[in-house]
Amino acid sequence: MTIAAHTLGCKLNFAETSDLVSRFTLAGWQQTDFGNKADLYVINTCTVTAVAEKKCRNAIRQAVANNPDAIVAVIGCFAQNAADEIARIDGVDIILGNDRKHDLLHYVNDFIQHRDKPNSLQHSPQTTDNPGFHLAYSHADRTRTFFKVQDGCDYFCTYCAIPFARGRSRSATVAETVAAAREIAASGAKEVVLTGVNTGTFGQNNGETFLDLIKALDTVEGIERYRISSIEPNLLTDDTIRFVASSRAFLPHFHIPLQAGSDKVLRLMHRRYDTAFYADLLQRIKTLMPDACIAADIMVGFNGETDDEFERVTDYVESLPISYLHVFTFSERPNTAALRLGERIPVHHRREHSRRMQELSDRKKALFYRQQTGQQRPVLWESDIKKGMIYGFTDNYIRVRRPAADASHLVNTITPFRLTTFIEQDEVFEDC
Ligand code: SF4
Repeated sequence: MTIAAHTLGCKLNFAETSDLVSRFTLAGWQQTDFGNKADLYVINTCTVTAVAEKKCRNAIRQAVANNPDAIVAVIGCFAQNAADEIARIDGVDIILGNDRKHDLLHYVNDFIQHRDKPNSLQHSPQTTDNPGFHLAYSHADRTRTFFKVQDGCDYFCTYCAIPFARGRSRSATVAETVAAAREIAASGAKEVVLTGVNTGTFGQNNGETFLDLIKALDTVEGIERYRISSIEPNLLTDDTIRFVASSRAFLPHFHIPLQAGSDKVLRLMHRRYDTAFYADLLQRIKTLMPDACIAADIMVGFNGETDDEFERVTDYVESLPISYLHVFTFSERPNTAALRLGERIPVHHRREHSRRMQELSDRKKALFYRQQTGQQRPVLWESDIKKGMIYGFTDNYIRVRRPAADASHLVNTITPFRLTTFIEQDEVFEDC
């Protein structure tokens, strides 16, 4: 039997899909690409924007078209929030929200036994009450692993449907998480990316903190690098910044959601900081780690972001030492408070704001790369070889490449790399 999986959304979803697929392969299934004919298609869905939901529907239709006789399982956040809608799509056999998706193997085996009966659709009750916590990590690339250390969120930002899809913040204990990190180290992966929905709230259900976690992870032998995939500005404490700056394995690379560059919009979003706090936070990081890469999520077109407001936002973002942006366009999510707040922005203005913010991100990234020219930094070489080139990332997340012909022995090793030739159109430093 063959399984093909497709993941939408965040790194957390990627870690969970990879973990699920490995359970099937352990049970004797063969993994194949999503574009191939398979016996089972798994679509791990996302509900963060309307565009993400549209991609989920398209992936479901693609799976049904690839093999009309296959079992199609739709799992994850969109499945949690829109199970009834998904149940009406022809060809869907199993729908599991975040509360049950970890039991997919059981649901698939059950479905295979009962598929000849009418109404065989497997449909878990949708609840986010007491959902439990499942540590998970990706197995796809032997150099870098996405490690889910936390799930859920209690913040209820006004635009966000994630707390409805993933429930309250929760995590395993530090000791359990470190034990899983040792398994990752034993698999040979050198770099671990810590992921979660609101990662900085790690441990709040156990009386532990995110700082406790990273101090303990830093001692795990075999893991040479950690990246923190995303942490809320108000949770990135000075103690955490100082620890990262002096730690053995935590890298000078931060992903700190900003979401809006205007205090008016931040208040409407119910974010827990203002623009002055965020700017000061970035300065504190840069003071200790001048070469740190800082990425930020920003949402454009949220209620109240008039054209005048957007001009102020771009000036503010321009002034920050941000290395690049992840730009999202606001779309109304069911059940969220944003439906009742502030002035709505026409969709064509949202698109224009998105285009301009993406341009700003491209300029910032090129500037960050140019500022690094001449430096020598450690690079972890990855296993993918494209067009005769082997690729890797520096500690501060600069992409580099060199000819692969004489370099396959470098895969999953860390070597020094002098940043000399920047190929701007490919956003990469090259060693010819
Ligand atoms: S912090 Fe806000 S944006 Fe992030 S998951 Fe929680 S509610 Fe959503």
